[in-house]
Amino acid sequence: MPNPALPEVPFLTSDDSMLSRRFGKEILNYYAGGTLNRYSFLRPDTAFLSRAASQSNARFVALNGLNPLVKEQTDLQYLKLGDLKPLIGEQPFALSEEDEIKNFDSSKKKPLLVFLGLLDDENAQEIATTNHGSVKGQPFFAVDVTPREPFTEAASALLKDQEAQGASVQASPMKMILHPESAAMYAQARSMIDWNTRSPFCAGCGQPSLSVHAGYKRVCPPTDAASSTPRGECLTRKGVSNLCFPRSDPTMIAAVVSADGQRVLLGRQKRFPPHWYSTLAGFLEPGESIEEAVRREVWEEAGVHVGRVVIHSSQPWPYPSSLMIGAIAQARPGKEDIQLNDKELDDAKWFSIEDVRTALKVGTGALGESPPEGYKEGDLRLPPAQAIANRLLAAVAEGFLTAVPKI
Ligand SMILES: [Zn+2]
Repeated sequence: MPNPALPEVPFLTSDDSMLSRRFGKEILNYYAGGTLNRYSFLRPDTAFLSRAASQSNARFVALNGLNPLVKEQTDLQYLKLGDLKPLIGEQPFALSEEDEIKNFDSSKKKPLLVFLGLLDDENAQEIATTNHGSVKGQPFFAVDVTPREPFTEAASALLKDQEAQGASVQASPMKMILHPESAAMYAQARSMIDWNTRSPFCAGCGQPSLSVHAGYKRVCPPTDAASSTPRGECLTRKGVSNLCFPRSDPTMIAAVVSADGQRVLLGRQKRFPPHWYSTLAGFLEPGESIEEAVRREVWEEAGVHVGRVVIHSSQPWPYPSSLMIGAIAQARPGKEDIQLNDKELDDAKWFSIEDVRTALKVGTGALGESPPEGYKEGDLRLPPAQAIANRLLAAVAEGFLTAVPKI
């Protein structure tokens, strides 16, 4: 798998702030770095959304079973509203949110449609909003085109048509080589469609909920035309904090360096092919800081006691909606013996920095894929540059520098 070029944050490329001089350049990981302006405050403005969707330059990212429609593997296949008419109609945002809620009928399913944002384009037509003047840019949306009832026929026909135009469905996350802007757009689209799909019922009363705010919020309407039984009171209709918003699950991932700075702690899961290792990772628990989560997970998984933890960078990981918080941590002297306490890992080992450096050059790739040229059978294999684990190890291999690594 070719290593994708790491994107630069356009407004930070020539950054000479005091912060960057003190802490180094901001580091960007794969799936981050998209330049869409999400305009979150325009999501409830259905009049704006309706205008945006019908602009001639509006584009729709299509997901089939959460996998993207792509062309030539490196770019998304962008659809136009016209392509989607059999599925979402001519005016997908025709009703105001108030009317959507009032007319709610849980028996009438609609394909999920999410407003992703506007891409800056000075030459684009102005789009009027209801309360914020007009905005300019190319609108992007995400749409679920999975063939399922009652859209099986329309979705299947659409997919067939797109395939005839050269599109395909990228079904393997480990073979993802979308260019960075598309990857970031896909990350947003995938997490949003996944969250909506998996949250069809109200968390307060268990009845069907309705997607509003262009896919970013789910509400529990007070009535449902599909049911003759009154829905009754629901806590989620009282107070803003009771509404259901999309989640991001904070996950720590750390490159743990030995006390003398000469070795790196790596672990492997049973499902990994031989010689494959990666950095240790785990979900944060309520009531602990990121640093504490790193110390807990590393001890639970490998028995090593960690001291200082430095946060390096973060990465949205849309499988389904983790926020990977990358850290570099150092083991405490004399507390480096490995013991697999929780048995989550199949093995954990200390590797020399030199072994890691070699593996970053000739041993990376997608799980189960052949290594690049120059790899010696039996040597360490590591995740590809799309994974933050690779970036953390690159930073360690380069002496913990915070500049974008060049591996
Ligand atoms: Zn409810």
